[in-house]
Amino acid sequence: MDVTDRAEELASDLGADTAEVKADLENLLEYSVPLDEAVQSVRRKHGGGDGGTGATPTSVDLAEITTDHGNVTVTVRVLTRGTRSIRYQGDDLTIHEGELADETGTIDYTAWQDFGFEPGDSLTIGNAGIREWEGAPELNLNESTTVAIADEPVAVDQSVGGDRDLVEIDAGDRGRTVEVRVLEVDEKTISGRDGETDILEGVLGDETGKLPFTDWDPTPALEAGADVRIEDVYAREFRGVPSINLTRFSTVTPLSESIAVTNEAPHHSIAAAVDTGGIFDVTVTGTVLEVRDGSGLIERCPKCGRVIQNGQCRSHGAVDGEDDLRVKAIFDDGTDTVTVVLDDELTADVYGGGLDDALAAATEAMDKDVVAESIAADLVGRTYTVRGSLSVDEYGATLDATDFEPAAEDPAAAARAALAEVRE
Ligand SMILES: [Zn+2]
Repeated sequence: MDVTDRAEELASDLGADTAEVKADLENLLEYSVPLDEAVQSVRRKHGGGDGGTGATPTSVDLAEITTDHGNVTVTVRVLTRGTRSIRYQGDDLTIHEGELADETGTIDYTAWQDFGFEPGDSLTIGNAGIREWEGAPELNLNESTTVAIADEPVAVDQSVGGDRDLVEIDAGDRGRTVEVRVLEVDEKTISGRDGETDILEGVLGDETGKLPFTDWDPTPALEAGADVRIEDVYAREFRGVPSINLTRFSTVTPLSESIAVTNEAPHHSIAAAVDTGGIFDVTVTGTVLEVRDGSGLIERCPKCGRVIQNGQCRSHGAVDGEDDLRVKAIFDDGTDTVTVVLDDELTADVYGGGLDDALAAATEAMDKDVVAESIAADLVGRTYTVRGSLSVDEYGATLDATDFEPAAEDPAAAARAALAEVRE
């Protein structure tokens, strides 16, 4: 029996217009809804009951949906649609996820099969499940869900599509599109669940900010300096900082125009910066309270790069340590504190000498601590402006510095920095 026959039968059954019923059926079929399910859905729409398959889910506004809801029917506009492969009960599944909106609000969705809809479509989604995701309700579109084009376009305030500036990207975002310059990129081999895998890691920038990225399916077009449009990425959190993730479903298109990348990092109080949960590129101004243990001349494990004590790595046991320079300083601006970490180069700048100088000083004093003591004597009590990547985890807030400069309002610190430069 074809669609026309079923439409005629159903229309006479419901006392409805045949052409209208047929159009409704065809809408559903266009979204790969099986014919029998489509018939039931159209029957419900025309008030003909549910055809004996159980209660019809109530139609609700998105703002009303809570995690206590059972199945629902909603009429919505598709804002975004991302694609991702996940491992679910041992199988690799391709799922679609993104955001839907109506006049009252928005909701995230996960579609466990391809219903074929696109951002901008207005849909009536029937019998969608509700699940809780990080405390908020999310729509689950599964095999018992029906998807049909809505009778009327759904007007929404939100912009349709996933195009975003980097500053607007939040952890948990899916189906996003960015236009960026690749600032840094490194190849890396990781051991994943399917053995060793090559990935790319680096930094992307646009005129609003910078974010780290990982490409799980390395794309040759992602070269340092390249200006690209990247479609269908998702963002996840790493130590409080959103990072952009590319998969095999992401597309990378070279851009002919060049992307302007900001040189500015937002300046925050330490409390405000910590409150965000993590910022990839931020500037704070504060005073060094203390130079912590593990600063100055240190030794690292040659295998994992972690700082070791007495030739013992926590993961690798007794190892031949490699000498390095580092500073870990407690930094305060009256609102909160953060641990500022200076790498070898910034440490050499504040020490006024490199690794060889530090080793020579330690040998002469027969004490490694002289290096940290010298650094502490210069830094403690002085005010600096630090730029870097702020992360927050259960151990507190850490700012990995890329720039460490005496604050303009602290002439003493400025004088010390000038002296250090003369000593170099
Ligand atoms: Zn190690």
